[in-house]
Amino acid sequence: MDFKIPISRRDFMKLAGLTTAGVILNPSIEKVEAVERISGKTLKYAGKEIPILYDVDVCVCGGGPSGTAAAINAAKNGEKTVLIERGIALGGLAVLGCVYPFMQTHAPNSDTPYLIEIKNRLLAKGIDYDDKVTGQTWHNPEILSLIYDEMCEENRVKILYQTDLIDAISSNKKISAVIVKTIEGLAAIKSKIFIDSTGDAYLSRNVGVDYERGYEKTGNNQPMSFRFEMGGIDIEKLYKYVVIDLQEDWCKSELPYLEIAEAMHRKQRYKLEALMARGVDSGELTQEEAEYMQAYAIIGKKGVMSCNFPEIPVKFKSTDAIEYSQAVVYGRKMMRNMANYLVKHLPGFENAYISREAAILGARESWRIKGKYYLVEDDYHNQSRFPDAVCRTAWFIDAHGEKVSEKLPKGGFYEIPYRSLITDKISNLIVTGRCISASFILQASMRIQPTCMSIGEAAGIAAAYSLKNNISANNVEWDKIPANKRSYVSQG
Ligand SMILES: Cc1cc2nc3c(=O)[nH]c(=O)nc-3n(C[C@H](O)[C@H](O)[C@H](O)COP(=O)(O)OP(=O)(O)OC[C@H]3O[C@@H](n4cnc5c(N)ncnc54)[C@H](O)[C@@H]3O)c2cc1C
Repeated sequence: MDFKIPISRRDFMKLAGLTTAGVILNPSIEKVEAVERISGKTLKYAGKEIPILYDVDVCVCGGGPSGTAAAINAAKNGEKTVLIERGIALGGLAVLGCVYPFMQTHAPNSDTPYLIEIKNRLLAKGIDYDDKVTGQTWHNPEILSLIYDEMCEENRVKILYQTDLIDAISSNKKISAVIVKTIEGLAAIKSKIFIDSTGDAYLSRNVGVDYERGYEKTGNNQPMSFRFEMGGIDIEKLYKYVVIDLQEDWCKSELPYLEIAEAMHRKQRYKLEALMARGVDSGELTQEEAEYMQAYAIIGKKGVMSCNFPEIPVKFKSTDAIEYSQAVVYGRKMMRNMANYLVKHLPGFENAYISREAAILGARESWRIKGKYYLVEDDYHNQSRFPDAVCRTAWFIDAHGEKVSEKLPKGGFYEIPYRSLITDKISNLIVTGRCISASFILQASMRIQPTCMSIGEAAGIAAAYSLKNNISANNVEWDKIPANKRSYVSQG
């Protein structure tokens, strides 16, 4: 790869806390015991004796941006941690769902230490993620999943891949074990604390936590997208056509960074809208297909773009198993038709082809818990601050098809309280990422990956604090954790 690291290697090593030998200096690693498989112990589940695979301090369910952050930070803080993931890569939607890049939060100084470390590691692997203009993090999905594996290994997080959380055993407001389906069959994992990072609040719903789904006004979930990548694109030619010939000023970055977009239902008028409208006129595209198209050049993958389309109609709900499956079939047809159209009509795409389909549909929103604090739209507009805030964000309300809000004034932001991650219902459960306690409209702002990562980071830290201080996870007061141990301290 020919991407330059814009700082000297020596400075970078200092910044990232690396030795010159490339070994991460992590003072807490020595304290974490290796997580060993238990042999011979079983548990009775659904009339069967099933093996107990692990008995640990923290069990994180779901290895997306928030779950991976939670697991790494629990382990960094000395806790024996297992991370369950149903795919074979960490990163969730960012990797399995082809969702790219990390959006900017628009909030000043929102990067928590974990985010900074991820960015430094991208640089160390030759991914110059910063276009110096937009604030987006132009990562690279295959490098990101590698970084996550490495960080888990360094911190002794035990990853269980191709493992589905299917059930949980709980009593007296406490989860004692989760039941998982591994490649061997059913098994149990016991833990002191459980973190629900499934994005779908799967664990929480299983143990009786209150939840919501979709928009209370319409009953719709946010639309899903079936994302994919296209290779063989002449990015220079595309750049010339869109930025120079069409004079699209939406694309603020210089090559190798390039974003193209159009969205017919938005106020913003994009130059590529005319191209897609012509497709409807000629019968080559349906109106549904032409509505939304967006693609990003991927750093480190020459000629490849990450396609944020097709956007699948809202009649297919992300919370209905049958409609979800129908959406895959429907979306795949839309994907092929749209890709064919671009190959035929968009300069730069003449030799392009679908090089990768997402392994999971892009569900922007599905189920959300109702926790101790329920974030609402007013928290966005009022720029709410909380003593127990775990991070800040100012990404606009981006509820596709329902509401797109004005941006907050420059420098403005709201905070996310730890109380939105916990409930009265279960004492040893913390919830992270896009399914925390927030209304449909507010979730449309907090759901971006950097914010989900910072939430996960805080969950890992809080879990460790809970265990060390013998306070149940749902009674931890984030603001009582010593400031130097917190990933974020509220600016009140
Ligand atoms: C189409 C689309 C476009 C987006 N665009 C952007 C963007 O440009 N930039 C940005 O920053 N954000 C974007 N987002 C938002 C962002 O990607 C998500 O909100 C974010 O990834 C949520 O992180 P998470 O950790 O909560 O969950 P997820 O990323 O959903 O990860 C959940 C993980 O849990 C695993 N899992 C789920 N259930 C189980 C189970 N039962 N057992 C085991 N494992 C399980 C899944 O396999 C997955 O790995 C977009 C989202 C979508 C859908």
